[in-house]
Formats: sequence, C-alpha cells, structure tokens
Amino acid sequence: MRGRLAIVTGASRGIGRALTERLTRSGREVAAIGRSASDLEALAARCGAKPYVLDVADPAAVDAVVGQILHELGAPDLLVNNAAVSGGSGLTVDVAANDWWRVLEVNLRGTYSCTRAVLPAMIAAGRGRIVNLSSGAASYPVGFDNDGQITSAYMASKAAVNRFTEALAGECFASGVRVFAVSPGMVKTDMTAEVFTDIWDDEDTWTPIEKSLDLIEDIDSGLLDELTGRYLHAANDDWRTLARRAAEVIELDTNRLRLTDLPA
Ligand code: NAP
Repeated sequence: MRGRLAIVTGASRGIGRALTERLTRSGREVAAIGRSASDLEALAARCGAKPYVLDVADPAAVDAVVGQILHELGAPDLLVNNAAVSGGSGLTVDVAANDWWRVLEVNLRGTYSCTRAVLPAMIAAGRGRIVNLSSGAASYPVGFDNDGQITSAYMASKAAVNRFTEALAGECFASGVRVFAVSPGMVKTDMTAEVFTDIWDDEDTWTPIEKSLDLIEDIDSGLLDELTGRYLHAANDDWRTLARRAAEVIELDTNRLRLTDLPA
C-alpha cells in the first residue's frame, strides 16, 4: 500500500485514530483530519500521518483543506468519513434546536462535504473507495419506552448516511468508485463513554476496536467491492462470507435500509 493516500476524518481520537495508526503501519500515507490540533500533532509524531485541522461541518473550510490535501499529497484512493458527534443524550423536546441540528451538520453534512470535495479526483482517476461510518442506531427498532439515551438527531443522521451511501454508490458505479457504510458495533471510545455509562463495565456489550479496522482494511483491499452501496456491521456481519455470497446479497437485497411489508 506504500505511497497510496487515505483521508481519515475524526482521526484525533477513538476509531479514527486507531484506523490512522493501522493504515500508516501498512505503509499508507494518511491525511488525518480533526479539530484538535494538539491531538493530531501527537498522532502525527507517533505514526507519520499528516495532520489537517478542520471542522467538517464547515463546507468552505472542507473545500479549502481538502483542496490543500489534494495539492500537497495528490488524489486519495480511500476516504473514511468517520468524524461524528453523538449529541449526548436527551429527548427531542428537551434538546436545544441548534444542538440537535449540529449533529446533522457534523455527521451528515460533514460526510457529504468531504465526499463532494474528493469525488472529482476519484472519478477522474477511475477508482477510489469511500467508507462512511454509520451505526446500528440507523435502523434498530425504537420502542414506546424510548428514553432519548441516543438522540433522535444521531439516529436520523446515521440513517441518512446509509441512504447517502446507497445513492452515491449507484451514481458512481460506472466511474469505478465504490462506497460503503460501516457500523463499528459498540466500541469503547469518548463517544460511548459520554452516553453508555450504565453498561460501561459490561464487557459482553463491547466490540473490539480492531474489528472495524479489519473490516475497513478488507474494504480497502477491494475484497468487498461487489457489495458497494451496502451497510456492513463489524460485530454482527461475517463480511468475508458476505463477500463470497455477494450474488445472494444482491439478489435478496440485504444489508440496506428497506421497508418490510406485512406478508399477505
Ligand atoms: P469519538 O471517540 O468521539 O471520536 C470522534 C472523532 O470525530 C474525534 O476524532 C473528533 O475529533 C472528530 N470530530 C468530531 N466532530 C468533528 C468535526 N466537526 N470536524 C472534524 N472532526 C470532528 O467517536 P468514535 O466512537 O471513535 O466514533 C467514530 C465513528 O464511529 C463515528 O462516526 C461514530 O458515529 C461511529 N460509531 C461509533 C460507535 C461506537 O461504539 N464508538 C458506534 C456506532 C457508530 P475532534 O474533537 O478533535 O474534532
């Protein structure tokens, strides 16, 4: 992988940081994006990633910084839209309107803006892979006892990321660009520490961070290209089996957001 460029957003902490370290160890050049300059500098010193300070929710800043990356490092063939915020916990009726909308701005608009900024270079190159970090929160059932532990903004943002992934994969298919939504499972990071204090010590709940890194590396290798546009879960999916059974996945239209009708 030496010499190939990946862009990872939200690289200063959590899954994005671990992924950046894994990719640089494999010989990839990585442009590491986040808001915290000091965390990014520390990461750069450890693994050689190139740090870029950026708030992905600011579209003009995304265009400027991604433009700078393309100029300095060339065209990426991997973009991982990992930066996100949970919005904490809270009922829709209680969360301040701007705080609710900020979750959409980071998680959805940030994913869109970074994708929009790299896509022309990938299309011109005739190749590239985009991985959008999604969540089980995009599709799991919500009951009448929903207590706002995960905000409606977070759920809405990740469902939108899944649909964006599917739509984009269709648009880009002929150009050779492949697009995936990935859920990491439940991983111990700052994000989950903020929300899941009640189950923090229940070790059975948690997915090792390495699972997401393994899945994204397999996507990066091209192993899952036939499953472009689909949602893959690092904890629940045996993705190598899905790759082998890709024809069935496509035929049965699994691993996407769909409505289920009541059987006749
Ligand atoms: P995390 O530990 O909270 O890290 C989030 C990263 O995103 C940080 O590096 C943060 O850095 C960056 N970030 C946040 N807002 C940003 C902005 N406006 N612009 C640029 N960077 C920003 O979260 P994580 O648990 O690693 O989550 C990574 C991804 O996996 C997210 O998309 C999350 O929704 C998804 N996910 C995680 C879990 C889980 O169990 N952890 C489960 C499902 C889905 P700065 O603060 O320095 O900007």
